[in-house]
Amino acid sequence: MANGKVKNKSYKRKDVSEGYERIDTFDAKGIARIGGHYTDILKAIGEDPNREGLKRTPERVAKAMQFLTHGYDLDPAAILKSAMFKEDYSQMVLVKDIEVYSMCEHHMLPFFGKAHIAYIPNGCITGLSKIPRVVDAFARRLQVQERLTNEIRDCLHDTLKPLGVAVVMECAHLCMQMRGIQKQNSVTTTSAFTGIFLDDLAHAKSSSSSSAPNCTRDMEPNTLQQQPTTIYGPESGSSTRTFLASVFSYMATALVISGVMAW
Ligand SMILES: [Zn+2]
Repeated sequence: MANGKVKNKSYKRKDVSEGYERIDTFDAKGIARIGGHYTDILKAIGEDPNREGLKRTPERVAKAMQFLTHGYDLDPAAILKSAMFKEDYSQMVLVKDIEVYSMCEHHMLPFFGKAHIAYIPNGCITGLSKIPRVVDAFARRLQVQERLTNEIRDCLHDTLKPLGVAVVMECAHLCMQMRGIQKQNSVTTTSAFTGIFLDDLAHAKSSSSSSAPNCTRDMEPNTLQQQPTTIYGPESGSSTRTFLASVFSYMATALVISGVMAW
């Protein structure tokens, strides 16, 4: 398990009062421990933990914290490997507008937005629903957006061994919006590419294996990666332009490789 700690799931609650069956799983010991600390925090900020509205707040916050960090219990590579299939398709697979909710590790405040993820298979595809699940597995931890972008890219590249991976994320950070510099409309864009999505076409061609990877086995770690780029700025669709640029870059690459327009 990557970067993982396993919580002891010892407490299940079934709730049908909301019109659907909801089963929440909590670590009872963890909730008691975290909740105790939040009781102290309430006192430290001058609140009365015994007033009516706050009586169960420490427990609620503890449960929320467990949910918001449940990605530590998940193995993103295993999620991908649970649905890998041999397939001849070798054009771009693009999953856009994946909702992202994460917590900044510096302030433990939320950041949220969208992820756009593309890969070009090299004999292996994964179930489409697995890509958003990988995003969640990494996002539901204490994170910085730059590392989150890289981790998603690396997981896809190392597991699927595709010809290339492109990850673009655009997120708003509450630690910038409701405290600190208080810029309400700023959005941070990060990107991380590998393989054919990089400009170094020659390198990409030489690094991509001529034979398809074995979908059922662990694969060699990738060696061709780009450090993430980060753009801070007002919401202006710049991430979309960045992502389109990568798509067009790939289109040009496809033209060079095949000599025909395949799009
Ligand atoms: Zn922060």
